[in-house]
Amino acid sequence: MIVLKFGGSSVGNAERIDGVISILIDSYINKKKKIAVVFSAFQGVTDKFIEIGKLAFQRKLSYKAEIEQLIERHYDTAFRLNPTSMHEQIVENLDRLFDDLKEVTHGVYLVRELSPRTLDYIQSFGERLSNTIIAESLCNRGVEAEYLDASSLVKTNSEFGNAKVNFPVTNKNIAQHFKKHNKVQIITGFISSTEKNEITTLGRGGSDYTASIFGAALNAGAIEIWTDVDGILTADPRKVKEAFSLKSVTYEEAMELSHFGAKVIYPPTMLPALQKKIKIVIKNTFNPSHPGTEIIEKSSSEKMLIKGISSIDDISIIRVQGGGMVGVTGVAGRLFTVLARHGINIILITQASSEHSICLAVLPKFGEHAKKIIESEFKLEIIEGKIGEVVVEDELSIIAVVGEKMRHTIGVAGKVFNALGKKGINIIAIAQGSSELNISLVINKNNLTKALLSIHKDLLARLK
Ligand code: ADP
Ligand code: ASP
Ligand code: MG
Repeated sequence: MIVLKFGGSSVGNAERIDGVISILIDSYINKKKKIAVVFSAFQGVTDKFIEIGKLAFQRKLSYKAEIEQLIERHYDTAFRLNPTSMHEQIVENLDRLFDDLKEVTHGVYLVRELSPRTLDYIQSFGERLSNTIIAESLCNRGVEAEYLDASSLVKTNSEFGNAKVNFPVTNKNIAQHFKKHNKVQIITGFISSTEKNEITTLGRGGSDYTASIFGAALNAGAIEIWTDVDGILTADPRKVKEAFSLKSVTYEEAMELSHFGAKVIYPPTMLPALQKKIKIVIKNTFNPSHPGTEIIEKSSSEKMLIKGISSIDDISIIRVQGGGMVGVTGVAGRLFTVLARHGINIILITQASSEHSICLAVLPKFGEHAKKIIESEFKLEIIEGKIGEVVVEDELSIIAVVGEKMRHTIGVAGKVFNALGKKGINIIAIAQGSSELNISLVINKNNLTKALLSIHKDLLARLK
């Protein structure tokens, strides 16, 4: 069994979907390979649903026109992919979903309430619509395919917007379902549900994760993530034109690169695959003959000390400092606990060995909030002068240089600093995990592109 996943960019319009169907038929079905296929919502549709929810919440009637446009887009795509004789049936199937959507958005409009739970429900229409259309289109091309709403099998807690999977229950559900269903399953990515059957989502970009969840539960031979680039590249191709595709990376390297901004794969995707040692292959829907990138246990890209650089463009730094912190145990522990309790994710931590200051990187939306929380947690220490004012700095970016072979290799960090130094780029903070898999640097946002280009040129370009 191979579990494939096609992202929004691969299913942006009817022509692209037609191309995907041809890949499935020519390379898998005709070759008698057993497959299950996960699809995302059509390109841009999840964003549109979020916008619609917010418009309704703000009592802006324009949300209705936005829904009409989405209806048109889905009808139009479905009609182009299927013979006229099927159109009536398709309208009937899609209208069932659109009627629900209209009802829930009307509710949001009336009661002026858009909870994370309702927003997840609204977003779930994206995947339900795309997969309904694609399953139907596959059947009409002669494939024995069947729509599968993954939310009935993938069970999570109720952390709406970023739900955590209950693997024992989910794995059992998936195994049981596949025992009874022999047709090619066309699976909605991204969506899941709680114990009480309320719809949840797995986080933006979560369809990759769905593929990995199914792949691991079914002990698949491979999980293939089909997207719009030739695999994982040495850097974000939108920022570094010279970036080139990597033959292979390890699960850990892929996790680090994606955690620090490489959008090509959603970070949690690696975990279920890693546990079962199932390889993940990233392939290009628009260049299917390219081998893409394999994510495996041991990478064979021999000479590459570093595999890639990624970046988070917008971060804020929170600096907690003061003479009274030196030698006091528990400051870091209290900091992390209090931020975690408020749902604030820490991207990076550095502490000078003098213990005089701790520096945390968070997303800018959390900056001021985090400052307030920390100041309240350390109220007494601040009054006593042990800890100074908590400082937030904005307009910063993080660059992460990633590669397993950096471990036990002297001089990589030096080369990175040199690449920045010679361009006059100031490094505000540095962190290196003890695994030595990743060196992260905080710099001013206006230096980001220059920094990426310089590091790529000095450390990666000549390895191509
Ligand atoms: P999909 O719709 O298939 O899920 P995404 O837009 O989520 O696709 O992810 C693919 C995009 O990730 C690429 O088009 C590319 O611009 C971006 N990207 C960022 N960093 C990298 C990288 N290191 N390697 C490859 N792609 C990257
Ligand atoms: N459609 C969802 C999103 O846009 C999931 C995905 O594309 O992977 O985030
Ligand atoms: Mg994606």
